[in-house]
Amino acid sequence: MKLISGKEVSQIVKDEIKKETQQLLEKQIKVKLAVVIVGDDPASHIYVRNKKKACEYVGFESVEYALPEDTAEDELLEIIDKLNEDETVNGILCQLPLPKHIDEKKVINAISPLKDVDAFHPVNVGKIMIGDYDFLPCTPAGIMRLIESTGYDVNGKDCVVIGRSNIVGKPMSMLMLQKNATVTICHSRTSNINEKIKNADIVIAAVGIPEFVKGDMVKDGALVIDVGINRKEDGKLCGDVDFDEVSKKASYITPVPGGVGPMTIAMLMQNTLKAAKLHNNIT
Ligand code: NAP
Repeated sequence: MKLISGKEVSQIVKDEIKKETQQLLEKQIKVKLAVVIVGDDPASHIYVRNKKKACEYVGFESVEYALPEDTAEDELLEIIDKLNEDETVNGILCQLPLPKHIDEKKVINAISPLKDVDAFHPVNVGKIMIGDYDFLPCTPAGIMRLIESTGYDVNGKDCVVIGRSNIVGKPMSMLMLQKNATVTICHSRTSNINEKIKNADIVIAAVGIPEFVKGDMVKDGALVIDVGINRKEDGKLCGDVDFDEVSKKASYITPVPGGVGPMTIAMLMQNTLKAAKLHNNIT
């Protein structure tokens, strides 16, 4: 079994970005990410802090709009509008989830597709469907980069993606399809899920259930990607894959933490750099 280290691969990605950012700075081009967060959700604040730290590392400017929980939807939309118009801002990220009184869809739709570094806007989602995109959603893009780093050839392989969320499962399936895998998307209503997983060469688990994928569910030699970030009863972090069991059978596996998580942030940096290049007509 080989461990796929998101820590190592994300470091390589961030160092590539840092170098390119330096080259842009030499041409007087600055890269700037605006991060909007509403409310006090501690996990969201940790994510935002990590994203700001990554910006600092690669040499981007970052500006944070930390708004109180009771911020009105209109007020948030106004801020997004200003950021859309602000030529110094290349990327806009609105940390999800938003408080219940704010319509997430409206907010996602309000972000200019040209600054939508999360790639959640319907225009960018549609572009992914037709395989002609500027931005890829960060977690699936990070997973593709992790798989590439192993040299594993996805072409013609059977891939099971467990989960069909807009953020992970659906775009993930589309990217694997574009790389010529035969993709099965499983979800909570899937029948005979164990059989489907057992037949897969590649298993990507984005379920949100601690250690959902057990050792006896996977094929010998499968490549296993664990997207889950869950807390066990004892407070310890764990994924959607039972690492101890599955690592005995997998050819490649990602750990949690240190697998997909760090890649998500690195890909956000990549999208922001791409946005800056697009805004400055650099190909
Ligand atoms: P989500 O929106 O809750 O989606 C979970 C998916 O799993 C749904 O499609 C659901 O099916 C399916 N599911 C639930 N129970 C199932 C079962 N018993 N059998 C088969 N499928 C089942 O979650 P998400 O946003 O995609 O995130 C998934 C996990 O990845 C979470 O642990 C999240 O924290 C983590 N995550 C990590 C990163 C990262 O950077 N590492 C980024 C995003 C998410 P239905 O559609 O039928 O309900």
